[in-house]
Amino acid sequence: MKITDIKTLLIDRYLFVQVYTDAGITGLGESGAWGYLEASAGAVETFKRYLIGQDPLRMEHHWQYLYRWSAFRGAAIMGALSAIDIALWDIMGKHFGVPCYQLMGGKTRDKARVYYHVFGETKEELIQGCIDAKAKGFTAVGHLTPFLDEDPSLPFFKTHVDKMEDAIDTVRRYREAVGKEVDLCVEIHRRLTPAEAIVLARGIEQYHPFFYEDPILPDHFDSMALVAQHINIPIATGERIHTIYEFEMLLKRGAVQYIRPDVCLAGGLTHCKKIAAVAEAHNVGVVPHNPLSPVSTAACIQLAACIPNFALQEYPLGENEPPKSEIVKSALKCENGFIIIPDAPGIGVELAEDAQEKWPYKPRTVKTRLHLDGSVIDQ
Ligand SMILES: [Mg+2]
Repeated sequence: MKITDIKTLLIDRYLFVQVYTDAGITGLGESGAWGYLEASAGAVETFKRYLIGQDPLRMEHHWQYLYRWSAFRGAAIMGALSAIDIALWDIMGKHFGVPCYQLMGGKTRDKARVYYHVFGETKEELIQGCIDAKAKGFTAVGHLTPFLDEDPSLPFFKTHVDKMEDAIDTVRRYREAVGKEVDLCVEIHRRLTPAEAIVLARGIEQYHPFFYEDPILPDHFDSMALVAQHINIPIATGERIHTIYEFEMLLKRGAVQYIRPDVCLAGGLTHCKKIAAVAEAHNVGVVPHNPLSPVSTAACIQLAACIPNFALQEYPLGENEPPKSEIVKSALKCENGFIIIPDAPGIGVELAEDAQEKWPYKPRTVKTRLHLDGSVIDQ
């Protein structure tokens, strides 16, 4: 079997990659470099010059070749490499007539527990979102901020004491709203300094969040380790890093208790299986990052299905509503807070034929929030 063509498809807010073969099998993947999808599509075009004519079943070799042929790294390139890797696994599964996880060690579970996204502009909406998720049968909620996702055009200002006390009280209200039947995955979106992160973690410890995600900018692993050493709730991080080398640096510092590799960014299934194994050696759980389309969810579930240290799967809103429900032919089934591991060959989902026509590309606006003093802040 040989690769005959590779196409990139920008649809709605997503970048998909289709790999075609002379056997008539097509593989589907997605890039996780969501801020730079045009750049990631450009990297796929560069990789295509090597891949045409190659045997699609040699994914580890192609991964190594594409990662190591030139000097450059980063999210746009790794998103492209990940999308291609997922598409090659999809081809491999279809070629052998089995799901990808069957070729990666077989099932370690029959279903994968998920956390549901909660969005809202007010605290009342966020609390109601937690209650609604519980009513729908979810046992964990996430993307759950103790701050508000306020309009980024509004300048931010709060005193330290107000920022901390308000956030602690908000987590208390989330816990009171759902009781002990729902886990809270608290998402800080990199908003705090290490000193603030320690104060807030100590304040919310009594509400037992499942994890405390990206309390600070994740770029400096020693800083994340410093926070981890001073708090008693588990840190989740890793959605912005790409390789086993970076994850090992994070893990050996004791900076993380749940790693968050993005299958569409951290090297696809080939590499994320290895990242999970590195975490396994540190007794650390895996919570695959997944803010993208049902194609990303399907790739994450192939990983969740075959690793022993899977902990929880991010499950974004709207998989069963347009545009997502119209981008794929059929999304994976989620019942009572668990995604059923699919039996279909490959990754288990296909793009709808009219997806691109129906859902044209929506480029993202380059926008971030500013402090009252005019400086850039994270939200
Ligand atoms: Mg996150």
